[in-house]
Amino acid sequence: MNNPFENALAQLERATSLVSFDPDFLRVIRHPNRQVRISIPVKMDDGRLEVFEGYRVQFNNARGPYKGGIRFHQDTDIEEVKALAFWMALKCAVVNIPMGGGKGGVTVDPKPFTDGEKERLARGWMRGMADVVGPQKDVPAPDVNTTPQIMEWMADEYGKITGDTSGAVITGKPIEAGGSQGRGTATAQGGFYVFETLREKLGLPEKCTVAIQGFGNAGQVAAQLWSQAGHKVIAVSDSRAAIVNPEGLDIEALVAHKASTRSVGGFDGAQTIDSMEVLYQICDLLIPAALENQIHEENVEKIQAKVVLELANGPTTPKADDNLFARGIPVVPDILANAGGVTVSTFEWEQNIKKENWSEEEVFDKLKTIMDREALAIADKAVQLNTDLRRAAFVIALERIQTAME
Ligand code: NAD
Repeated sequence: MNNPFENALAQLERATSLVSFDPDFLRVIRHPNRQVRISIPVKMDDGRLEVFEGYRVQFNNARGPYKGGIRFHQDTDIEEVKALAFWMALKCAVVNIPMGGGKGGVTVDPKPFTDGEKERLARGWMRGMADVVGPQKDVPAPDVNTTPQIMEWMADEYGKITGDTSGAVITGKPIEAGGSQGRGTATAQGGFYVFETLREKLGLPEKCTVAIQGFGNAGQVAAQLWSQAGHKVIAVSDSRAAIVNPEGLDIEALVAHKASTRSVGGFDGAQTIDSMEVLYQICDLLIPAALENQIHEENVEKIQAKVVLELANGPTTPKADDNLFARGIPVVPDILANAGGVTVSTFEWEQNIKKENWSEEEVFDKLKTIMDREALAIADKAVQLNTDLRRAAFVIALERIQTAME
């Protein structure tokens, strides 16, 4: 298994070999500012006490408070959280929002948990971290297996401990608990704006065939947005199953099916395929929207999409990146493609601090302006440096962080 933090450092080295950076800056940016590990005791409904390990990595705050989601997953560990925190620092710089990079997690499979157990785990994470987070210090958000409800429990716990009930400590909350309009769909929406802005430059047709790995906050909303815009979503997967229909899947019916059965498996009008096959479909656009390290040295040759757009963080390893670049398959990198989530999270933080409520239209107008502008800047930089979009995005982000640190 590829270590995601080693992949992140390999990406850093590739980008910084193209443009000269201050060597002292490069020495510092390889290391997180702070890594926090906590134990979270949780009383389970059957009376047992379980203890989970929780993390927060605060990578860099030169451009503003640390910002980044909290992941609940059985494979999460400090190395993964470190990589995700590093990518957050770059991502916030890519979209030029006044935030640094952080990330959190708990090693746990929360799927079998009752709501009560999830609530006690969420509150326990916040109790352990209340000293290190805060609206002007570090502002977490949702990630894999964490929801608006979990954010609300955490915000409430922080309010009880500190007396700060503004909600600005955490984003991705339900609307009625201080969340922003548009946050629930922002990650995929941002990716969709980037796709529309770069579509012609990437050599894609007006109407594309699309395969999506992952059917959660990022992947399901992406399926809806692309299909509503007249593209044909032909294959999707989740952690339990993968399905294909070359004629196109009925996404609204699939969303209803997933809501009632908790999986895309067994959907009428589609064929079941092996989980990884979703990545190998012949299609215009492949959207990994699950976890990291999905496209790697051993399977990259099987990728047949014309373009890869990364809604997941770190789904492509550096060696796979090289292979795709050599084969003329552009990869729209995570730190641009999925930056809509953190951008609207930052809008939510700003609204909480200013006690404002922006309309969905206002949120998406602002988001579109940012995503379009930065997508074009990265595409231009890639041409200028004769390189891929990931290296170009890294160079732009690192230049912004270096300026802030100076
Ligand atoms: P989520 O928990 O809502 O959904 C994750 C989805 O991936 C689920 O459908 C799950 O079944 C599926 N999945 C898990 N393992 C899989 C596997 N091996 N094969 C196929 N599917 C699998 O999480 P999310 O918020 O949608 O996050 C997905 C990715 O997007 C992550 O990499 C996350 O870091 C990234 N991301 C999310 C946000 C956000 O705002 N939620 C923002 C930026 C990036």
